[in-house]
Amino acid sequence: MAQLIAANWKMYKTMAEATATATALAERLQGRIPSHREVLVCPVFVHLAALAPILRDAGIALGAQDVYPADEGAFTGEVSPKQLQDVGCTHVLVGHSERRHILGEADALIAAKTRVALERGLAVVLCIGETLTERRSLQLEAVLFRQVSSALTDLPAAVTERLIVAYEPVWAIGTGEVATLEDIDAAHGLVRRMLRDCLGASAAAVRILYGGSVKPDNAGAILQLDTVDGVLVGGASLDAESFARIVLA
Ligand code: PEP
Repeated sequence: MAQLIAANWKMYKTMAEATATATALAERLQGRIPSHREVLVCPVFVHLAALAPILRDAGIALGAQDVYPADEGAFTGEVSPKQLQDVGCTHVLVGHSERRHILGEADALIAAKTRVALERGLAVVLCIGETLTERRSLQLEAVLFRQVSSALTDLPAAVTERLIVAYEPVWAIGTGEVATLEDIDAAHGLVRRMLRDCLGASAAAVRILYGGSVKPDNAGAILQLDTVDGVLVGGASLDAESFARIVLA
């Protein structure tokens, strides 16, 4: 199973900046992506179409940061799976902690997004993770179980091959605070067990990424853990040189 190295550019960059960063990244990675790694970049919606050819030519996949769980309709401001695919997306992030905690997305909406996007053929990176308060009050396992089981129970086996889970402790996102290798290993072990409980044998094909202040100098050690199938990178993916170093770590 190839490791996935994914960039979440969040709500950063103008069109000119995004194009320049994608071009610089494509130049650095052209012909250099290791055979055991895949690379994904998720810019804002309005940059997807422009970045698609630049990234595609370098073998980098394109993803959106969100999706609405319907094919079309009166859903002002939203974007459907088909519209994402139409501009070159193969992947989409669902349930990122900033959407859960800042935009107030609930488990039921995240479950609908996960299901519909998978059924329409997108690879979904389902983001899960506990807040510091939840961790301190020993709710890590309960929170991860709620997030995993609400999104994945009763998913048809045929679509789980496109499912990816990103474990992102909320307290480690954008804070410079990285979970220890032991914490990451333990949480990924828990998530793997939950995936087996929810999905049965098809859980084996689901990659589990770590996200939370991954940088060029800590990526190598994190990616060496047997339980880690890739990383989701925010801040350190905004600079082409820094993200390329993570891809090549
Ligand atoms: C993220 O946005 O998913 C993330 C992990 O951000 P950062 O790498 O900046 O912590």
